Amino acid sequence: MFVNSSRLFGTNGIRGIVNKDLTPHIVLQTGMAVGTFFARGSLVVGHDARTSSPLLASAVIAGLNSTGCNVFVAGLMPTPALQFWIGHHEVDGGVMITASHNPAEYNGIKVIWKDGIELSREQEIKVERAYFDNQLVLARWNRLGVTRELKGLDDEYIAAIKKHVNVQAIKKKRYRIVVDAANSVGSLVGPRLLRELGCQVTEINSKMDGSFPGRLPEPRPENLGGLSSTVKSVGADLGVAFDSDADRVIFVDEKGRIASGDESFGLIEKHFLMENHDEKIVTSISSSTMIEDIAEEYGGKVVWTKIGSITVSKTMKKLKAKLGGEEYGGIFFGPHQPVRDGAMATALVLGIMAKTGQSLSKLLNELPNYFIAKGRIACSEQLKNKVLEQLVEQVKGLKVNTLDGIKICFDDKSAILVRPSGTEPVYRLYAEAKTARRSEQLIREYGSKVRNAVKILSTRAIS
Ligand code: MG
Repeated sequence: MFVNSSRLFGTNGIRGIVNKDLTPHIVLQTGMAVGTFFARGSLVVGHDARTSSPLLASAVIAGLNSTGCNVFVAGLMPTPALQFWIGHHEVDGGVMITASHNPAEYNGIKVIWKDGIELSREQEIKVERAYFDNQLVLARWNRLGVTRELKGLDDEYIAAIKKHVNVQAIKKKRYRIVVDAANSVGSLVGPRLLRELGCQVTEINSKMDGSFPGRLPEPRPENLGGLSSTVKSVGADLGVAFDSDADRVIFVDEKGRIASGDESFGLIEKHFLMENHDEKIVTSISSSTMIEDIAEEYGGKVVWTKIGSITVSKTMKKLKAKLGGEEYGGIFFGPHQPVRDGAMATALVLGIMAKTGQSLSKLLNELPNYFIAKGRIACSEQLKNKVLEQLVEQVKGLKVNTLDGIKICFDDKSAILVRPSGTEPVYRLYAEAKTARRSEQLIREYGSKVRNAVKILSTRAIS
């Protein structure tokens, strides 16, 4: 995968199937390239609970040490906890070994800058140049880096989260909560934070196991049936599901209904804007129009970005924005740190429940309602750009945003996003509308536009 390419990093770090795309050799070389980029810096290295993670962490640490970088070994740790520590201590950056929401056979590498945010594309290119042009700068035998174990990182992280919510108000409610940490590192901080907030916690999929026996690590509705039924059976107020590195979180209400990422972001946005006027809300173009509706009603301004959590983080930092979000369950709370943080998001939702005294289902019901429909159309990599050009021509005169793919907004509050996937040979379509019929109609209409464009262009390519 990487050998014949000039690119290591995708939209969210380096990812691949272990011992196929991502071998210890590649990870060692990546460690050397990252170490060359950080030039004898001090870095923190952590990993998720995947079977391959300790091995790949050792490879990356060896690579870093060989270039003279010193390493603080954090071991098993959620990504946001690692990012928080890096952002608040005198270190130069860090590396997290995780494939986030991907299945067990995958792993990956997230490289973090000293501000706690992942490297910018410009910085990634420097690492890639060191890697592919074989410009690795190794240290002399007597200047090798050293490793040191890092303890207490989770204590600091949990204490920091609690500073941003009304702990006493939450404690008084004695909430009953079910946590599903996907057999990974979310179980190290989520349940503990909640117990410190006075909650009675039931854990499922809590034992760390890199084969992910409980469920697939992506917190999508089809993987959260167990959490939903446990919430109902124990009579919990809230269900919390993390992905494998606990930066993303999806919530389940007391009736067992799985909320979308848009809904939990909308809820946090609404209550944030009620207390903080005229703030900027940063979110990627794939988020629901609901985010704009709420901003209009409660006096905020939405800043739309390209898709990718790093873009949201960097935009927040540049604009000094305090809140960001992604529809997949990423909440970025700037006063804590401008990166996705599952535990922080959980504390914010509990804070809202405690402040209003309302159930999560009632709070979510009060948000603007949209019906979502999705589609995908096959399209080869070579045709992706040409198809996009054709589509742009076809939708001239409509209210179009071409920040990332094409998003078209209509006067009846419906919208469709048509976008080439960054990882698969497909076009993805997301529609939303005030009725299910309208959103499905948009998927059919624009699905056939994409299909036709692909057909015409591939015939041209052959003839
Ligand atoms: Mg993740």
